[in-house]
Amino acid sequence: MARIKRLSIWQEREEIGLVKPKSVTPIKQVKGIAIHHAGGSMLPPKKQEREASKVKAIQKYHMETNKWSDIAYNFLVGNSGTIYEGRGIDIRPASQGTKDGNDYYLSVCWLGDATKYLVSDKALMGINLLIDDLERIYNLDFEVKAHRDFKATECPGDALYNWISKGRPSPKAKLDDVLEQIKTKGYYIV
Ligand SMILES: [Zn+2]
Repeated sequence: MARIKRLSIWQEREEIGLVKPKSVTPIKQVKGIAIHHAGGSMLPPKKQEREASKVKAIQKYHMETNKWSDIAYNFLVGNSGTIYEGRGIDIRPASQGTKDGNDYYLSVCWLGDATKYLVSDKALMGINLLIDDLERIYNLDFEVKAHRDFKATECPGDALYNWISKGRPSPKAKLDDVLEQIKTKGYYIV
């Protein structure tokens, strides 16, 4: 796997404090990514420091209650725009609810209930930058899907679903700001 200079702020699972997976299955082949929301009336954390603890809580639930090998998602994103590594790249997720969905698509989950709360511009930017990074890692144009494209579910909520359907428009001002920061500093601050 070629190392790349990442555009997105990406916290690795060790930094978040996730526990080791019970087992790991490589993904069969990557065609794209599925977008999810956490749902369950979850209020998106206002502070970035709170996001990592939500990620840990989701992992605990998936491993202890659902008895899965690890957190179901490959990545998660908070309203701060930070990307959190779940299973990470190359690993088969458990989030799509269908065999083909998990065999061919990575996943990213927004930390909140998008049917009740606003997905921030920074979160949308974070998702777009993550997809840019992954497309460069895999040297592939990603198919970007919603969880509901695989099975009957409201996930990821109408707001995120409509954003995906419209081709994931980036908030223009934010995009210019981010690109300027990357150009001048080599990274950006959310
Ligand atoms: Zn979902």
